[in-house]
Amino acid sequence: MANAALNRIPTPIAQLSTRLAALIEPPAGVKGLQRRQAQMLSGVLLTLVPIAALINLVTPLLYPELGLNPALMAAVVVLAGLYLLSRSNNYQAAALLTVIVINTAVYGVTLGRTGEDSIHSFNYILAVMVLSSITLPLWVTGVLMLSNVIVLQVLPLVIPTLPSTVGPTGVFVVGSVFLLVFMWYRDVLERDRQAEVAIAFEQTRKANELLKTANDELKAANKLAQDTIRLKSEFVSTISHELRTPLNAVLGFCGIMLEGMGGEFDDDARHMLERINANSTHLLTLINEVLDLAKIESGRIELVNTPFSPADLAGRWQTQMGGLAEKRGIKLDVKIDPALPSMIVGDTERLSQVGINLLSNAIKFTEKGGVTLRFLRQDTNWVLEVEDTGIGIPPHALNYIFDEFRQVDGSSRRVYGGSGLGLAIVRNLVRMMSGQIKVASELNKGSTFTVILPLVTEQAPAAVTS
Ligand code: ADP
Repeated sequence: MANAALNRIPTPIAQLSTRLAALIEPPAGVKGLQRRQAQMLSGVLLTLVPIAALINLVTPLLYPELGLNPALMAAVVVLAGLYLLSRSNNYQAAALLTVIVINTAVYGVTLGRTGEDSIHSFNYILAVMVLSSITLPLWVTGVLMLSNVIVLQVLPLVIPTLPSTVGPTGVFVVGSVFLLVFMWYRDVLERDRQAEVAIAFEQTRKANELLKTANDELKAANKLAQDTIRLKSEFVSTISHELRTPLNAVLGFCGIMLEGMGGEFDDDARHMLERINANSTHLLTLINEVLDLAKIESGRIELVNTPFSPADLAGRWQTQMGGLAEKRGIKLDVKIDPALPSMIVGDTERLSQVGINLLSNAIKFTEKGGVTLRFLRQDTNWVLEVEDTGIGIPPHALNYIFDEFRQVDGSSRRVYGGSGLGLAIVRNLVRMMSGQIKVASELNKGSTFTVILPLVTEQAPAAVTS
C-alpha cells in the first residue's frame, strides 16, 4: 500500500523520501511497534542535529560578540551520538538519554534565566514529554512529569533566588495529567483488546483441536469403510467364482442338449431346457455385474488410456448392438461431431462398458422409433450421448435409477428384464474417468443419457521409475 502510494509521487520526491526513510531505518531485528518508535526517535534526532548545528554556525555570524557557544556545540555532538544510538538495537536507551538530556538542558535554561524566557522553555518540556510518551513506557513519562513538577514548581518556592515558574507550571501539570490519563486509558483499551484477541486465539486453538480430532475420527472411519469395501469385494469375487464354475457347466450341458447331442427331446422338454438356458444366462450376467461393481468400488480397476478413433469406436458399438436393434425393429443411428479430433485418449474397454450398457438399455426400453448414439465436442470436454424414443423414465425415478439394484419397475411382474446394476456400474466408471453423467427423460417420449468426459488428445508420458 505504502509502496503503491510512493509510486504515484513524482520521482525526485519519491527518491528523497526513500533516502530519508533509509536514514531512520532501525536494524532488521527491531519489529512491530518498537520499529515505529525507533523510527520516530531517529526522525526527531535527525531533525534536531542539523537545526542545532545551523544555530551554532549562524549565531556567531549574526552576533560576532557572542562567538561560538561551547554548550551548543556539545549539544550537537551529544544529539548526533544519540541519533547513532537510536539506529541500533538499543534505541530505548537512546530514547531515555535523549529525554533526560533535553529535559536537563531545559532545567538549566529555565532556572538560569528570568521572566518570559523561562516560560518559553515549557514548549520544550512539553515536546520532551510527547517524545517520551511515544517512545518509552508510560511510567517513564510519569517520573518525568513528577521531576518537572518538583524542579519547576517546588524548587522556586523553596529557593527564592530561582525565577518563579509556578503559574505556567500549573498549566503544564494539568496538561500533563490529561496526557497521562489519556495514555493510561489508551493502554487499558489496548490491554482489553489484547485479552480479547487472546481469548479468540484460544477459542480458535480449541476449535482446531476439535477439528483435528474429528478429522482423525473421520480418517479412522474412512479406513474402516475402505477395509469393509475391500473385504466385501474379496468375498464377492470368491463367491462369484464359486458360482460361475458350476453355472458355466449348467450352461455348457444345456447348450449341448439343445443342439441335440444328448438325444432328441419333445417340445415340452425342449421348452424347459430353453428356460433353464435363459435363466442361467441371466444369472451369469448378474454375477458378472456384481463382480464388476465390487471391483470398481474397491478401486481394483485401473484405467488403461490409449489413443483411439472415436468414429471407429462408435462403429464397433453399432455393429455389436445392430443385431439386437434389428430384432426389436428399431433404428440405431450414429452421429459423430466433425469438431471432435480424429484421435482422442481414453480407456476404450471401460468406455465400451459404458456405451454398450447405455445402448442396450435404450434398445431394451424402446418399442418403436429408434436409438441415436452421438459423440460431440463441448469446449474442453467430449460428450457421449445415447438418445431413445422409448418408454421414458418418470421424474421421481430419475433420482434413484443410478443406485444399485434400483429399477423403475421393481415388481416381480415387470416386462423388461435386467438386474438394476448396469447404471450403477456406468456411473462408477464415469466418475473414475473424471466425468459426469446426466439424464433427461419424458414419459412415453424417450430418454437421453449424456456422459461428459474431459477431452484429452495427447497421451501423458509414462511415469519414469529409477
Ligand atoms: P437394468 O438392468 O434394470 O436395465 P440399469 O441400472 O441399467 O438396470 O437401469 C436401471 C433402471 O433405469 C432400469 O430398470 C429402467 O427402469 C431405467 N432405465 C434405464 N435406462 C432407461 C432407458 N433408456 N429408458 C427407460 N428407462 C431406463
